[in-house]
Order: sequence, then C-alpha cells, then structure tokens
Amino acid sequence: MKINSAEFIISNSDVSKCPLERLPEYAFIGRSNVGKSSLINMLTNHKNLAKTSGKPGKTQLINHFKINLNWFLVDLPGYGYAKVSKKTKEVFQQFITDYFEKREQLVCAFVLIDIRLEAQKIDLEFITYLGEIEIPFCIIFTKADKISKTKVASHIAAYRKALLANNWEEMPQHFVTSSLENTGRDELLTFIDNVNQD
Ligand code: GDP
Repeated sequence: MKINSAEFIISNSDVSKCPLERLPEYAFIGRSNVGKSSLINMLTNHKNLAKTSGKPGKTQLINHFKINLNWFLVDLPGYGYAKVSKKTKEVFQQFITDYFEKREQLVCAFVLIDIRLEAQKIDLEFITYLGEIEIPFCIIFTKADKISKTKVASHIAAYRKALLANNWEEMPQHFVTSSLENTGRDELLTFIDNVNQD
C-alpha cells in the first residue's frame, strides 16, 4: 500500500466521541516507550504525525488518523507507565477497555512489544484480555535494529513459549519492525491492505 494521505482527525478520551464514519480501524497499543509513535511515523511516512516524546505516558488519548481517506489508524495511550497517578491510570484504562469493547469499527489491534525484552506480565495480561473479548490482533516486535538477527529469532521463540505458557495454542501473526531502518513497513501495510480488501 502506498500512503497518499495521513491526516490527524481527533483526540479524545471518550469512545462515543470517536469519528462516526464507518471506516475500518487499526489500533496501535503497547507499553510506554515501546516505539509506537516512531512506528506510526514510519508507517505513514511522516516525521511527526504521532508525537514521539521523551516523556512516557504523555499521550493519554485515543488519537484518530485518517489514512488514504479509507481507513483509520488509531494511536492508543501507552499503558503501564508507573509515574501516571493511580487515578489517571484507572481512567485511561477504562477508556481503553471501552474502546476495545465498544468500537465496532475496530478490525485489528496491533500490540507492540520491544523485541529486546523478556515477555512482560502486563503485555501478556493485555493479550489475554484481547483474546477473552475476541479482538483480532497481531504482535509487532519493535526496535529490531537493536539486536542481531539471530537474537531476533531466539527472542521471538522465547515470546512464543511465554504465550503458550499463557494458554495460547499458537503464536499469533507477528511482524518484526525497526523504525530506524524502515524494517517491516511493507509487510504491515500489505497486511492492512489485504484485510481492508476482504
Ligand atoms: P512511544 O512512547 O511508544 O511512542 O515510543 P517512541 O516512538 O517515542 O520511542 C521511544 C524511544 O525509542 C525513542 O527514544 C525512540 O527514538 C526510540 N525508538 C523507537 N523506535 C525505535 C527503533 O525502531 N529503533 C531504535 N534504535 N530506537 C527506536
């Protein structure tokens, strides 16, 4: 898929105020600092569409971007940021779950995982939650440039093991990306294109 246009539409913390248009939506979510903004900018060919920030936890809203006038890329707040006060955390978790449980336009969630790290409890819990509410999702491993190709393979194998230990029968569809080196961009955009055409 060629990106012809990418336009910011609206930010909010209330799923009922998300755009009314019935375009397919792809949601991007992960722990703060996982590289979500960098990935969104890489995918859309924009330097600063999603705000990359040195301050994790800053973008705590549902952000809708309209791509090629026919689908929405949805940038969701990073989760698991310790310095967000408990109250704020509860609020954004509620609207994240509202988004996943109520948004009919959502066709696929992308859960971003830093390829360097061992499987984190919060990610596994979130993936389990998506399974329970039957939201189709893929895993996007980020920052692949930071480790060798051999390590990429062994880290994915370790992740698969962690998922199997958490009652998954198989490794979900996954992508390996590096926003620094543009890795995985074509694969992800082709995947979205194919789902849009189904
Ligand atoms: P977010 O909080 O998930 O939106 O993460 P950001 O996109 O702001 O990235 C967090 C940090 O990781 C920044 O310092 C980025 O420059 C860095 N980063 C993000 N993606 C990559 C990547 O693919 N490779 C490398 N080497 N660094 C990355």
